[in-house]
Amino acid sequence: MADKVQEIEEIIDKYIKAGKILSQVRSEAKDRIRVGVRLLEVAEFVENRAIELGADGSAFPCNISRNDEAAHATPLADDPTVFDEDVVKLDLGVHVDGYIADSAITIDLSGKYTDLVKASEDGLNAAIDTVKNGVNTAEIAAAIEDAILAHDLKPVGNLTGHGLAQYIPHAPPSIPNRRVSNGSVLRTGDMIAIEPFATDGAGKVVDGTLTEIFQVVKKKPVRLPAARVLLKELKQYRTLPFAKRWLRSPQLDFSLLQLEKAGIIHSYPVLREVAGGMVSQKEHTLIVTDDGCEVTTK
Ligand code: MN
Ligand code: MN
Repeated sequence: MADKVQEIEEIIDKYIKAGKILSQVRSEAKDRIRVGVRLLEVAEFVENRAIELGADGSAFPCNISRNDEAAHATPLADDPTVFDEDVVKLDLGVHVDGYIADSAITIDLSGKYTDLVKASEDGLNAAIDTVKNGVNTAEIAAAIEDAILAHDLKPVGNLTGHGLAQYIPHAPPSIPNRRVSNGSVLRTGDMIAIEPFATDGAGKVVDGTLTEIFQVVKKKPVRLPAARVLLKELKQYRTLPFAKRWLRSPQLDFSLLQLEKAGIIHSYPVLREVAGGMVSQKEHTLIVTDDGCEVTTK
């Protein structure tokens, strides 16, 4: 019993360490996001800085999604793209021994979307206020929806927050961003990420054409030599998502396609607002406690 308690405390310490590192990286990265700066420079800064500060690695590639892109955009290898007067979502993940901190902020380089940025922030704050042992995720979802609707904007209904587990960045339960009839009950010690998205569009995202982020979802042998080489390179990421630009295996596009066809990897296309609306996001990771929660990525 004492061993079990100590083990849980050690795990919580790792979640807290990951959160502290993330917070520092996030604040340093925020200052680098300016018109004319390369997206790749910011993504590489985030991914390298986390390790410099003592993380074991990125929990997923640094997501830099702009304007009507809601999530899953990350620069390509040698990507020359620079920031314009964009609404930028910076979503970063850090892990310590597989225990994850996941957080996102929106930086409005246009200066025209203050209310949109505020809407997802208000959604997150309202959600955090509801969290405690015994809360139903449906209550959290309603709080998020109300806070965003108060700005005459819409939550993105088909994106949700989620639980976290070791080396698993998206574990049950999902934390919806709009009203649902059936939720699930959170308990003390649960680790969750809450991430409201607000939009002036239709409130729904769809898959875009570009895919740069993948994840190994199934262990299975492959025959093609090139795919085997790639699978070996992917071992280091375990079940965490990875970016194509991180990989060095030859015939990369071909091998990725083979592994995807075999059901070994899953691809995460860039998600775009269906009506082309602007999207903002704010996210924190937190531990549910008896009478509230502790935000690890504050
Ligand atoms: Mn995130
Ligand atoms: Mn998340």
